[in-house]
Amino acid sequence: MEDIPAQIAHRRREQKRRAYLAAIGKPALSADFHAAQAHIRTLYFEGGMSAEQMRRQCGVSTNIITSVIRGHRRVTRAGPEPIVRMRRTTIDRLLTVRYETPLDSKHGAGARVPPQTTLRRLQALIAHGYNIKWLAAQNHRLTGQHLSALLTRTKGQRYIMATTAQAMTELYDKYHAVDPAHVGIRPGQIEQTRCAARRRGYAPPVCWDDDTINDPHAVPEWTGACGTPDGYLIHRRERLPLCPACAVFRTNHTSPESALPDMEFSPLKLDQVLREPGRAPLRIARALGHPNGKTLDMWRQGTRRPQQRSLARLASVLGVCPEDLCDARPRTPLQPTQE
Ligand SMILES: [Zn+2]
Repeated sequence: MEDIPAQIAHRRREQKRRAYLAAIGKPALSADFHAAQAHIRTLYFEGGMSAEQMRRQCGVSTNIITSVIRGHRRVTRAGPEPIVRMRRTTIDRLLTVRYETPLDSKHGAGARVPPQTTLRRLQALIAHGYNIKWLAAQNHRLTGQHLSALLTRTKGQRYIMATTAQAMTELYDKYHAVDPAHVGIRPGQIEQTRCAARRRGYAPPVCWDDDTINDPHAVPEWTGACGTPDGYLIHRRERLPLCPACAVFRTNHTSPESALPDMEFSPLKLDQVLREPGRAPLRIARALGHPNGKTLDMWRQGTRRPQQRSLARLASVLGVCPEDLCDARPRTPLQPTQE
């Protein structure tokens, strides 16, 4: 805190300066604040810096900084009141803020970052066999609720707390190469967690390396050949969930009719997949757009067969390749021709 004489001196200087600017025809307020606003928003949203960190650099209050980020000062009954002008001194000070890594202390709490790379790390640890409850118990900054929310709500959520991101990075660095069984998680639980991850298409740690996991544009590398015919075949052979690149490859390179030329839907294989731990037939039926489990039951019992298109949809809901639900079609014996 500045002492009182210093504050008075500061106010006097400020008054003189404003009088001077007014005298030369430059008002103290300016509408030309958009560069400063863009600068602050970038540091906040992309850099994950907190308003408090910025305040300590430039002396502008956190209230003003957050209103610049939002673009409005307060919300009245008529709606948000947009900022139209700002003090020149504030604009100049905001432009002096330099990037600093987000702090992992109570001062940095409140900094926010995009959720994508944190979500990747969480999904990878789950795919490796670590459950949410166990992960949350390893770090006091995480809770199971936190993590479930991250998994389910990220679509609508543009930013997460930088402290959450940091905690997840630490967990990932520590455990992504450690077998969950070695830290005392029961084999049954590991298997259940892995199955759930497979169903949801979570990419395990082997799909990422240090460069790609932090690159927002990178996609997980499941097979070493994703997006090529080989990649697609490796997915099938290893029963890996089909990745977006290979799914695109598959739809671009095969028509629905010719997709499975020598394959035939197998109720037995569907039954096996549905018996895997954690599969809930009713939920699967709903994901397929069926009001109840009847159709799925008939497919499973073999009293009805899914059409090609339904088969592709079923496989994608189950997180398997359509071929995993098929047998090789027995060759039709040649009928003796009658002449
Ligand atoms: Zn792939």
